[in-house]
Amino acid sequence: MKYNKVNERIIRRLKKIVGERNVTTDPEKLEIYSHDEEGHPRVEVMPEVVVFPETTQQVSKIMKLANEELIPVTPRGAGTGLSGGAVPLYRGIVLSLEKMNRILELDEKNLTITVEPGVVTGEIQKFANRHGLLYAGDPCSGDSSFIGGNVAENAGGNKVIKYGPTGSHVLGLEVVLPNGEVTFFGGKRVKDVTGYNFVQLMIGSEGTLGIVTKIVLRLLPLPKYVVDLLVPFKTMKEAIDFVPIIVREGKIVPTSIEFMDRPSLLLTEQFLNAKLPYDDAEAQLIIELEGNNKSAVEDDYERIGNLCFEHGALEVFVADNRNTRERIWRIRKSIAEAVNALYPANCLEDVVVPTSNIPELMREVDEISRKHNVKAISYGHAGDGNVHVTFLKDEKDSEEVWIKKLKAALEDLYSITKNLGGTISGEHGIGLKRRDYVELVLDKAQIELIKSVKRAFDPNLILNPGKIVRFE
Ligand SMILES: Cc1cc2nc3c(=O)[nH]c(=O)nc-3n(C[C@H](O)[C@H](O)[C@H](O)COP(=O)(O)OP(=O)(O)OC[C@H]3O[C@@H](n4cnc5c(N)ncnc54)[C@H](O)[C@@H]3O)c2cc1C
Repeated sequence: MKYNKVNERIIRRLKKIVGERNVTTDPEKLEIYSHDEEGHPRVEVMPEVVVFPETTQQVSKIMKLANEELIPVTPRGAGTGLSGGAVPLYRGIVLSLEKMNRILELDEKNLTITVEPGVVTGEIQKFANRHGLLYAGDPCSGDSSFIGGNVAENAGGNKVIKYGPTGSHVLGLEVVLPNGEVTFFGGKRVKDVTGYNFVQLMIGSEGTLGIVTKIVLRLLPLPKYVVDLLVPFKTMKEAIDFVPIIVREGKIVPTSIEFMDRPSLLLTEQFLNAKLPYDDAEAQLIIELEGNNKSAVEDDYERIGNLCFEHGALEVFVADNRNTRERIWRIRKSIAEAVNALYPANCLEDVVVPTSNIPELMREVDEISRKHNVKAISYGHAGDGNVHVTFLKDEKDSEEVWIKKLKAALEDLYSITKNLGGTISGEHGIGLKRRDYVELVLDKAQIELIKSVKRAFDPNLILNPGKIVRFE
């Protein structure tokens, strides 16, 4: 793909659109916008310029200019992405949404909240909670990622088993199309079959079809009681085999069923200088239950607790106050960060299978690890089948050996996942990291459809080019 360079004339026009203070070409600042949090492969490409629009109109004018001048534009939220999605592969303009960070409206009658894309997800959760309401999107990066990035990646997280991923909470989207036109998909209505479902098409489109500039989210009543069970199991097999039993025999859909294997837990304890009980157990489950009636929640956790013991749990710890709950979740939510700190050369995966196939997937991961002699740890969202298998570089391995082993291990992981009815990304997206593996899981017809949809929205291929599928 051939694009034009950002020259002085373009910089002057950008400054005219967003003001001098909202344009930077300072190399130190550009470096920050050259990558996201993806570690393997760590792709860093310096943009030519970063712009910080403050309004939809400014975004629209930037896109119009870029489209006319054939300059690539990469939208960017908080840069916490784990697929290289916000990397400006062809340089050009990075369009940061960080200054569009206002909560615009809480509509308590319709149970909606309207926000700009640069609002930190955790701020939406807290704001809703203060009004007795729940925003149920809950990625582990909630304290830093932006809601616009969550929409673009259809972020999942800890509550998907009960409430669904980000897309389940989105009712409407204001979008700036690649040619600068502004449109509004959906609205505050819960139902809509007027034409194609563009809201859901935008969700998970990884910044390739349009720039999300306003989001209408659905809220729910905030449950009064929340309890977390921390359940250690002697073996990984017992823990994972137990996951489908919780719903089937417990007759309840918990808010979360998360798991961490022993190495993930030990690494994170070391990183945080914190400790959980029974950390010598091979695996731990975190099961979150909630409701409005205290005794009903207690009944639920007693029933689930008894089931845990019947199926080999070593203990069931009940965390029914904020402090103990936060202690548990802090560990779970910090695993990725701990791995990065202690094993800078690692590859965090995001495979997802039908939940009943998680036990088989975990057995296969052990086999892959042995076969290729590469260390693998696993944790993730057991309740929805999404496992973050993470390969770690052995310090004895040279870079060359590690890359070779990793490639072989990844190919095995992806093809086994596919055979188990799964796919290669449950929530982190394809971006750049998995682009060259997409053909393993999507057939030719689907790839062609993706390309046709992309061209329909963006005929000049200026918006976040080089992501999801290859055009060259
Ligand atoms: C420690 C850690 C824990 C994580 N835990 C989870 C988890 O539990 N669940 C999960 O799903 N993910 C998780 N992630 C991944 C990441 O946080 C999510 O993908 C998040 O949604 C990215 O949001 P962001 O604002 O950082 O987006 P960025 O990384 O800035 O961008 C991500 C993609 O969205 C596009 N984009 C951003 N804003 C817009 C917009 N307004 N319009 C159009 N496109 C846009 C970008 O072009 C890019 O393709 C985690 C990451 C880290 C570092």
